[in-house]
Order: sequence, then structure tokens, then C-alpha cells
Amino acid sequence: MTASLYIHIPFCVKKCAYCDFESYPGIISDADGYITRVLGEALDARKEFGITGVSTVYIGGGTPSLLKPEQLKRLAGGLFELFPPIKDAEISMEANPGTLNEPLLRAALDAGINRLSIGVQSADDRLLKKIGRIHSFEDARRSVMLAHDVGFGNISCDLMYGLPGQTLSQLEDSIFLTTQLEHVHISCYSLILEENTPLNQDAAAGRLVLPDEDTVCEMQKRAIRQLEGFGFKRYEISNYAVPGYECRHNTVYWTGGDYLGLGCAAHSFINGDRFSNPYYNEYMSGKQHVNRYTVKAAGRLEETLMLETRLTRGVSLNDIALRFGENVKNKLTASAGQLKDLVEIKDGFLKLTEEGFMLHNAVVYKLIEATE
Ligand code: SF4
Repeated sequence: MTASLYIHIPFCVKKCAYCDFESYPGIISDADGYITRVLGEALDARKEFGITGVSTVYIGGGTPSLLKPEQLKRLAGGLFELFPPIKDAEISMEANPGTLNEPLLRAALDAGINRLSIGVQSADDRLLKKIGRIHSFEDARRSVMLAHDVGFGNISCDLMYGLPGQTLSQLEDSIFLTTQLEHVHISCYSLILEENTPLNQDAAAGRLVLPDEDTVCEMQKRAIRQLEGFGFKRYEISNYAVPGYECRHNTVYWTGGDYLGLGCAAHSFINGDRFSNPYYNEYMSGKQHVNRYTVKAAGRLEETLMLETRLTRGVSLNDIALRFGENVKNKLTASAGQLKDLVEIKDGFLKLTEEGFMLHNAVVYKLIEATE
């Protein structure tokens, strides 16, 4: 079978103030041992799941660009021997400005990596500092240009909005300056305050002020218009691409495809089963593939509605009828009629409107309710 592969690299220089991902500063010296552990897990997984080829790969984190060139080559070389990428496979790596350098970029290209996702986040250095990023916009600009000059033609930039004290015009400046860089994809996310993060504690104590809900909605609306004006078409709630450069790996998640997650805290969905890996210490002691369960039909329908409606193209009603029955398709069609302004049916696809996307979870719960 063909599947997608995610590899989690949990090392960072410093923890960003909003981050609750599985990532740790100060343990990069463990990287060789970690790579050995991931390759061991990959060998077990190859025996267990019969994956013969991979169509997309995503090396994420954390900060994969903190690895040394020889470490990246050992990781990618070992993985692709076990799971050969199919022809034209999309192979992405996340990178943090301030950690990218030419030898690493060349090693990435040699290893077969053909797409980079670079965390720019903002073009405003004061905002970058407030959220604890380790780089300036100039570092980000140089990283993107260097990656492009080394030979990467498929580069994505991450941007955030709803940052502490951020104004609409600061966001517009960030979008403008970022779109001037050599890249073909933008992920533009709203800041989410996660529990137990310094940013959340500062907000709760009144030490910083976040833009209110209306301003954040307006930021999203303006981002859509501005990015579309620069040729980045919105294809998912938070993702925009020059047509043809939509992220194929993430699309696998949104459309219910099979993927194997390797490394600490990585999640997998294979042959109808979901499972995950434990956090770093337990993972390094040999534990893997825990919390395993088979997704039942009702769960599959809920997941399909929750994930596939994130795409602007929506979910195919014919697919729904084939997978879950004509009856479910009819109920969804009726519900779409009641949720007008939020949901529409076009060319056989049920999709959320721009207003609907603003209320994505609430709208999807209404759709799920209608199918019960
Ligand atoms: S670089 Fe990414 S993973 Fe690392 S601390 Fe910052 S947000 Fe978290």
C-alpha cells in the first residue's frame, strides 16, 4: 500500500511564548539517539503495515532545521530505504528562520526534500519578540531567499494574526512584505491561546492585550482578500497557494487518507485505525503506538464532515452517498438548505461560505446533528 509519512523532530532553540507543541529546548545533543530511535520505529512499522511506497512526507516539529546536515541525511536516507517515495512524491521539511544555513539546505535537497515550510509569522520585529520567536523578519527574508537560491522552488511561509497588540495595518504590512518573497504557499493562522503557555498566563493577568474577536474576524477577511490579490488562492481555512502548489501532505489529513506518524507524540491513521506515540521520555524508552482504536462508521462520518469541510472545495455529496448511504446525503442536503449563508451546495459539493468558515466548528456540529 501507499501512504503518507510524518516524522516529528522535537528539538527547538527556545520555547515560543504561545507554543504547546511537543518540543524542547536544550536537548539537541540527543539528536543522534533520537534518529536511531525513529529509524527503529520505522523498521517495526514497515513490518507491521506493509507500506510499500510513500506519496508525501512531512518532517515537522519542533525545529527539524536544527539538525546537522549529516543527521538529516541519515534520517532521510534511512527512512527512504524503508519507505521509498513514489515518483513525484512531495517531501516537506519545516524550518525556522535563524536556524537555516546553506549546508543544511544542500543536504536537504540531496536527501530528496523538495518543499520547505518556513515559520515567518510576522514582518514586525516587535511582535516577533512579544511572542518569543528567535528571529527577525530580516532573518526570515534571508532564509527564504537562500532556500530559493539553493534550488527550492516549492516554499511555504507561515504567518500569524491576532497577535498581542497587533493592528489591521500591521497585518496588512506583514502580508505585503511576505508575499514579496520567493514562495508559492502561505499558511495564515490566528493565534490560539493554549493553556499553560506564558502568553496565556500574560493575557489572563492583563499584562498583554489581544485584538478583540471582531478585529480578528476582520483580519481574516482582509487576509483572504489581500492574499488572493497577490495570487494565493484560499483552498483551506488557513491555507493559500499559487494554483498547483496546494500542500498534498496536509490534504491527506483533511481527506481521510492513510498516514504513519513516526517520532514522539506523532499520530497515525492507517487501515481505519488511529493511534499515537507517547511523549519524549516514554517514546525514547521504547513505548510506541498507544491509544489505538478503530474508527467506526459514525466516527468516520463525523471526521469526514469536520475535516473535509475545511477545504474550500467542500465535501463531495456523491462520495458521502457511496460511503455512508443516500439517506445521509439527503439529510445533509436538507440541512444545507436550512443553514443558508453558512453552507452552500455547488457542483455536487457541500461547502462552507466565508461566513460559515468563521463559525466552522458550530456549523459542522449542526451538519452532524442533521445526520443523526
Ligand atoms: S519553533 Fe515552533 S515548535 Fe519550536 S517552540 Fe516555537 S512554535 Fe513551538
